[in-house]
Amino acid sequence: MINSQLNKNFVAETALDFVLRHADTITYPLRPEVFFGGGPYNAWLLPWTEACRAYGTADFFNLKKHGADAATDMVEGDSGEPVYLTVYDDTVKSMARQSFTKMHELGHVLLGHMDECRDSGGKISYAFRGQLEREADSFAAETLSPAPLIMLLGLKTPEEVARVFRVSRAAAVNRLRDVERNGNSRLYRDYMGRMERAFRGF
Ligand SMILES: [Zn+2]
Repeated sequence: MINSQLNKNFVAETALDFVLRHADTITYPLRPEVFFGGGPYNAWLLPWTEACRAYGTADFFNLKKHGADAATDMVEGDSGEPVYLTVYDDTVKSMARQSFTKMHELGHVLLGHMDECRDSGGKISYAFRGQLEREADSFAAETLSPAPLIMLLGLKTPEEVARVFRVSRAAAVNRLRDVERNGNSRLYRDYMGRMERAFRGF
């Protein structure tokens, strides 16, 4: 039995720690590309059209067949270290959606999902997979538009949140709902103080 509140906090903490760790180098709206290209997570991004051309295949990683926006594979680097390759559907028109997808995939890496899948030999239940997808979604939402920053900036409408963080209107509505429900939680209050110091002048 999974304690969902505990898990929710773990995802939020992982996402907000991630944002704080990069506070010196990132600006909002967030550009997910800066976390790839090797970098601290050994993660690489490859546009689907480019991958198809380079490997002479019609549907690299079977993205279109599966109706997926992206897929991430874990391979072994030269020293046995894990290297992550994310192929994303660059034919998706919405840049906000592409950004969400990239952070969702990085979320799978940061939340340890790739290891969970490997350790289970790919045999994970449908329900568990659903949970991992929701966690990666939460990671993406929290890193692209952190609730503590929404509160610090005093943003009140979906239009404001969408404009400042360049997220979709639907994503902005979800974020404001989260702020309304959990804005007074100890977790968000704690991160508000830390983010205020880290993002002074944002
Ligand atoms: Zn996913």
